[in-house]
Amino acid sequence: MSSPATGVAIIGAGLSGLTLALALHRQNIPCVLYESREASLDIGGAIMLSPNALKILDALGVYKNISPLGHNFEKLYFHSDDDKPVDDFVFGSQEKHGYKALRIYRFELINVLVSMVREAGIPVEYQKKFDHIVSESSTSVTWAFADGSTASAKLLVGADGIHSRVRKHLYPDLTPKFTNMIGVTAAVPRAQLQADPNYPLPVTIMSPKHAKAPSARARPRWMGRAAEQQGLVHRFSARRQRRLPPIVANAVSNIPLKGINLWPFYLVPKLDTWAQGRVVILGDAAHAIPPTAGQGVNQAFEDVYTFAGIVAKVQQQKPSDDEKEDAARIGKALKNWQQGRQARVDRVLDLNDKVNKRRLPDAVKAGVFEPFDLDWLYDVDFDKMIAEWAA
Ligand SMILES: Cc1cc2nc3c(=O)[nH]c(=O)nc-3n(C[C@H](O)[C@H](O)[C@H](O)COP(=O)(O)OP(=O)(O)OC[C@H]3O[C@@H](n4cnc5c(N)ncnc54)[C@H](O)[C@@H]3O)c2cc1C
Repeated sequence: MSSPATGVAIIGAGLSGLTLALALHRQNIPCVLYESREASLDIGGAIMLSPNALKILDALGVYKNISPLGHNFEKLYFHSDDDKPVDDFVFGSQEKHGYKALRIYRFELINVLVSMVREAGIPVEYQKKFDHIVSESSTSVTWAFADGSTASAKLLVGADGIHSRVRKHLYPDLTPKFTNMIGVTAAVPRAQLQADPNYPLPVTIMSPKHAKAPSARARPRWMGRAAEQQGLVHRFSARRQRRLPPIVANAVSNIPLKGINLWPFYLVPKLDTWAQGRVVILGDAAHAIPPTAGQGVNQAFEDVYTFAGIVAKVQQQKPSDDEKEDAARIGKALKNWQQGRQARVDRVLDLNDKVNKRRLPDAVKAGVFEPFDLDWLYDVDFDKMIAEWAA
């Protein structure tokens, strides 16, 4: 059965979808969330938030609820394999950028967002898997769920992650490419590190060696099997036998199997458009940003805040009698939004390249690094951007 066209329908109640719901609610735009799972996807581990995203979360009332739950810090530290300082990277600064960076468990952030969405009275329908677009008119879009039901809205936003189903409407043949690289992360209690209280954290201790990743074909089976994950834990622990800095040896000395997270790296090519008619994609669905500069979800938060701002601005403009003219107006504003957002994502990709180069063994050996300009990333006026794109 089809329900009547609501304001904005959001596919995916992950970090992008939940935050988008709060951003739209703040602009008095009605929205509904549809999530394929029983609960929002929590792939485990922690994420790091930088001032550009924290400014947005502050405006949405989220920051005050999450700041006490995580580790507030200013710099990421990089050490050599014998635990000597090599480089650092400013991830936040109270004094310079208004916010310290925040490292927080993903489940804590999701829990806060879910409870704020609930308090705002925004409907969330779980176990509703988007399947395909059925039709579009000059005023609404209608789609089908995997269970055969349909629904309609004025706008449909795919916030359904890197393997986005909504993106298939815009790019039917696009499939994300597995890079044969997997990040393996695990959380252990800080006490287990037995580190000096002044030891700088968060730290990355860089190994000059690269581990071999399983083949793309083998990956899904390999990732799913508990026995294989157990093997992975043993491999880590075996490294203790070699000469590793004590902090690393301690960290891997006892990894609970349940605490292991596997993060396969996929690539999505740069997309020409994130909006077609009344269907829009954002967050990981629109741009899968490699993890080097830690900007994946930070950029997703920029997408959702500016998207909600653009929709609100267009709605505030005087409506015309002609539906086609109104549709063209939102189409033009969304094009400006996407181009402006893509320009920032491109700069982040460029920053990723620069950071990657600094991590190469020769660069580490030389120990001479060009300073970064991060002001453009952290000190940004989103409301000004929105006003320009909507004008
Ligand atoms: C280990 C790890 C560490 C990371 N650390 C950082 C970090 O420090 N900083 C940073 O900025 N980024 C980080 N990232 C990247 C960040 O996690 C992603 O950018 C972010 O999760 C993207 O959010 P999203 O909501 O767009 O997508 P997702 O988190 O993938 O959420 C998509 C949601 O849509 C739902 N869904 C999917 N398909 C459908 C469908 N057909 N119908 C309905 N619902 C559907 C899913 O169930 C899910 O709930 C990290 C990622 C990983 C894996």
